[in-house]
Amino acid sequence: MRPLFVLAALLCLPPVGAAQPAVAAPADGVIVITGTTVIHPEREGAEAVSPDTSILIRNGRIEAVLPQASLELPRNATVIDGRGRYAIPGLVDSHVHFFQSGNLYTRPDAADFNAVVPYAGEVARNKARLPYTFKVWLASGVTGVVDIGGPFWNFEVRDRAAATAEAPHMAVAGPLISMVDRPQLDLGDPPIIRIDSPEAARALIARQLPHQPDYIKVWFIHRPGDDLAAQEAIVRAAGDAAHEAGLKLAVHATELVVAKAALRAGADFLVHSVFDQPVDEEFIALAQARDVLYCPTLFVVQGYPLALSGQWRPTPIESLRADPVILAAMDDFAEIPADQLPERVKRLMADAKPGQMLTSSSTIAAAPRTGMDNLKRLHDAGVTIVMGTDAGNIGTLHGPSIHREFALMREAGLSPAEILRAATVNGARALGLTDSAGRIAPGMRADLVLLDADPLADVAHLQRVRVVLKDGVAYDPRTLLQE
Ligand SMILES: [Zn+2]
Repeated sequence: MRPLFVLAALLCLPPVGAAQPAVAAPADGVIVITGTTVIHPEREGAEAVSPDTSILIRNGRIEAVLPQASLELPRNATVIDGRGRYAIPGLVDSHVHFFQSGNLYTRPDAADFNAVVPYAGEVARNKARLPYTFKVWLASGVTGVVDIGGPFWNFEVRDRAAATAEAPHMAVAGPLISMVDRPQLDLGDPPIIRIDSPEAARALIARQLPHQPDYIKVWFIHRPGDDLAAQEAIVRAAGDAAHEAGLKLAVHATELVVAKAALRAGADFLVHSVFDQPVDEEFIALAQARDVLYCPTLFVVQGYPLALSGQWRPTPIESLRADPVILAAMDDFAEIPADQLPERVKRLMADAKPGQMLTSSSTIAAAPRTGMDNLKRLHDAGVTIVMGTDAGNIGTLHGPSIHREFALMREAGLSPAEILRAATVNGARALGLTDSAGRIAPGMRADLVLLDADPLADVAHLQRVRVVLKDGVAYDPRTLLQE
């Protein structure tokens, strides 16, 4: 079925003036969302909410946002009844990886299940499944994603998304400039490449530039005994080469001393929290001076131990919106013979206490308290926060895992409005689409989500997606996911 036919049936509204309701409004058609409450995450306080408002969309762009009373309905417009609903800008997940699926077999360097499912088969499956994975994102209200590192074929992923209507907008990084080797992930086009000198970093970036990456990404792993100054010189070389090419530098750095080194070396985007200790004044000053984007990725640190201890369970929204093939694979755990389980898994399972996994007292998957406290502190210091899940890692599924992340950001002390800003306006900055996405305003791309409940009252209401529009084409999330 075509999306708008289903929409019309769903909303019990015949398209006004349209003789052929079974045809989806093309990108050059006119859509009007009438009488809705528009949320403007870029604004403060009462200014952020515009009730009784209509949104006029033409040629894939927002043409007007105006009071319902002053709307003159264009002829042949397709009307979506927005009454009692809430329009937000399309969401952005600023940290995902399409070469990973979220299931148990997707990171053999962390837990080697090759005896059960060979890694080559897992990666081939992820490639073949891309069209559905794109839809999973749209169905969750996400109209933009940043794939912040993967094999060279990541650039093809971006091309495929750009050529597919039913896919989010995408920014992308190529292979990670890494301090450590990950031979388990090397199938000939590795996502992580060990670099041991500034010259080697420049050489790898030179190989990436013809593919026009949006980011250069460094996997800044610092272990006891490593020479931090020598590592920082590699990151600085990467930053200089990125900046010379007009690109941004994204860095994985999860400890305070490492994240500070990343900022000194020129990081524009810290893709994880500082998880090991509270951030200090020096870190805050560095982050402010670089006007850095800071992505907390809180849930992913729980996702691994939950999945690898057999304690992972889908949330209700994951049962509805995640890829059913991946959901089914999360249950494989129970059928794997004990002698085929990776050592890490055996240890986690021995420690697991069912039912305690998400409490703060759990040793298996405690909420990342220090990361959450740092998020609140940095947010209050004016650092730009973006929302990102690190989807694709074990236990963090593409699409609906955003709601696990939203819940932890809320628990960290951010308000629903602040979380929505991170996931829209600030996310548009991570995407490099500041001028065309992240806001509901004339001239912007018509990327927006119509919710059945007020997201400013409860961040969980972001699950109540009724309609998603991307580039002015409307989709019902349920229809989108029918195979
Ligand atoms: Zn990541």
